[in-house]
Amino acid sequence: MRQDQNSLSMQEPSALVQEYLNKVSIEEPLPADQVVSISQQVKQLLIEKNAVIVAHYYTDPLIQALAEETGGVVADSLEMARFGSKHSADTLIVAGVKFMGETAKILTPNKTVLMPTLEATCSLDVGCPADEFTAFCDQHPDRTVVVYANTSAKVKARADWVVTSSIAVDVVDHLDALGEKIIWAPDKYLGAYVEQQTGADMLMWNGSCIVHEEFKAKGITDLKEVHKDCAILVHPESPQSVVEIADVVGSTSQLIAAAKTLPQQRLIVATDQGIFYKMQQAVPDKELLIAPTGGSGATCRSCANCPWMGMNSLQNLLQCLQQGSGEITVDAEVAKLATTALDRMMNFKLAN
Ligand code: SF4
Repeated sequence: MRQDQNSLSMQEPSALVQEYLNKVSIEEPLPADQVVSISQQVKQLLIEKNAVIVAHYYTDPLIQALAEETGGVVADSLEMARFGSKHSADTLIVAGVKFMGETAKILTPNKTVLMPTLEATCSLDVGCPADEFTAFCDQHPDRTVVVYANTSAKVKARADWVVTSSIAVDVVDHLDALGEKIIWAPDKYLGAYVEQQTGADMLMWNGSCIVHEEFKAKGITDLKEVHKDCAILVHPESPQSVVEIADVVGSTSQLIAAAKTLPQQRLIVATDQGIFYKMQQAVPDKELLIAPTGGSGATCRSCANCPWMGMNSLQNLLQCLQQGSGEITVDAEVAKLATTALDRMMNFKLAN
């Protein structure tokens, strides 16, 4: 992995991320009767407003269940984007983090896109400010700019390609075969994995996911010592030492697919534990174990739970339907530029 230290963010990404973490507020769990009452109100409003829930795997299982029951979707960010762009609803309720809402709005500008909270962001997004990233790219005009979906609309507008973790290796492999050198942003761990898989010439931004960064190889191998018959499933936003001990490395959708095909009955899963709702549905007879975030040096800021995904709740989901709050808007010029890079992502997936 190569990094141009002189060109990286002026402010340390961790300091920027901490600013946003200070604003996180998670609502208390609801009593069962309120869950039923709010769910019923949400179902009624979805019909009245011709709206549909587009939820990420990492959101509260109560939201995932509601999305499923009402004809919405629970998916990774690529499938969320595809579902929203094809659905006939007038309003998309995007339960996830802000870049997902922005992507939905860019791809479906004629729909209303609402989010339960606009405060839910992502350490990768906030650790890659658009102005600093643009300056970084301008210093390397010979490189093709590939950014992860976990970025702001403005960063996507500066990119040539947007990718998700499910297609990152394939896209970079494709560009490498064309002889293109790459700027990769913002996740340094996913970038290192893609570089190792493709052998492409990649210049990295110095970002990371605060959730996946906490997984520890030592803790996982200790757990595997106890359960010798298990398989280890790892999301590639995890550190290289964790990726190296994985039986399967993949995006959320790819990990759920692997859970079904792996012969092992016990799986250690290194990604946000919100995925367990859909993964357990896929493999009801298998035992799923959360990969430890402990081990030497752990700060356990996240413990396999994204604090921003956790800001989505039934209460604020209902509120955004009732009040039309949390509306996503994207500047028209930014959206136009970002559409080019996003369309490449959508079309690449379809063509491959
Ligand atoms: S889990 Fe990590 S990559 Fe996903 S939204 Fe949270 S901080 Fe961002």
